[in-house]
Amino acid sequence: MGQGKGGDQVSALRPSNLPKLAVCPCYESNPVAGPAAERGTLLDSAFRAELLGLEERLVIANKLTADEIAAVAWAVSMVRAMSGRERVLAREDDCRVKMLGLRGTADAVVPAKFTHFDLKTGMRYNYREQMAAYALGFMESQFVSEWTAHLLYCDQREVETLRFTYDEAKAVVDEVIVAFHDLNKQPCPCDYCGWCAKAETCTARRVIVAETLPVADPGFDFEAVAADPEKLGRFLATCAVIEDFHERAKKLATTRIKTGGEVPGWKLVTRKGAEFVDCETVGRHIQRLGFGPVLAAYGNLSAAKFRDLWVGRMPGESPFPEEAVKHAAPMVYLKQSKPKATP
Ligand code: SF4
Repeated sequence: MGQGKGGDQVSALRPSNLPKLAVCPCYESNPVAGPAAERGTLLDSAFRAELLGLEERLVIANKLTADEIAAVAWAVSMVRAMSGRERVLAREDDCRVKMLGLRGTADAVVPAKFTHFDLKTGMRYNYREQMAAYALGFMESQFVSEWTAHLLYCDQREVETLRFTYDEAKAVVDEVIVAFHDLNKQPCPCDYCGWCAKAETCTARRVIVAETLPVADPGFDFEAVAADPEKLGRFLATCAVIEDFHERAKKLATTRIKTGGEVPGWKLVTRKGAEFVDCETVGRHIQRLGFGPVLAAYGNLSAAKFRDLWVGRMPGESPFPEEAVKHAAPMVYLKQSKPKATP
């Protein structure tokens, strides 16, 4: 059964939600921003304030860690480098866009280059539908038929560039809007469930859990699951939903016990923190210990950190030695490819 289409659902239809709605048309963003979203908002304001050279950037910087300051500085330097001598607009009023009845605000726009920038924090996700919406809005306001979106993943120091023609961007956004308004739409358990306001009440997820709990009966045959690719895929999809509920239940139980309540069969335990020597202390002894052995003990530095050090300590002196960057072996991991609607 499709989920209702109340007024609050209509507000769910905004550019930042489009990538989630493209996977599950019933997705609804949680009104309570989690720590990751709050961090994203803070870094966004730091990025905007830096681009605009606002005085408040110093106040905002006080709320950031050294790593976050470096991440924002990297993003600002990318915008400067990619926009050349063209004017960068970063005031919210200059970055507002409207498209197909939706409204949104990009982080920075360079009209002369038909391009906009969007800062992203945390892990890399798909933002194609959101960028298509902004691109569509800018193409309409600037009367052009092609647009480029640059996603700045500041924690990874990576840039993703997406190019759209007017027709492509409109098709991408239209598809999500049509699916959202479909009266027979079905919730699609997916990677975004953990952020969804309906995570604990969603019918599709409840059905999965209700069907899975009897798995504990003696009829459960893991060998049969392991031997059948179809069953194995369904089992993994089910486990993902159960794991999400498991995490929520752990948080609830921890809070309950911490505040004096009880959860029969469970208690809080404290593990001793790891022992360490801070880098200042290591620095005081480094002459006697020897730079080589100390650096070997620290291990490899991420390319992003080395790049930041190079640019920060030797600005303009010599080009960054790209040949020094080595690539670790690709990581293989399992990811659900096609979430299926649960009837
Ligand atoms: S909880 Fe997951 S499946 Fe349910 S509406 Fe939200 S995103 Fe869709």
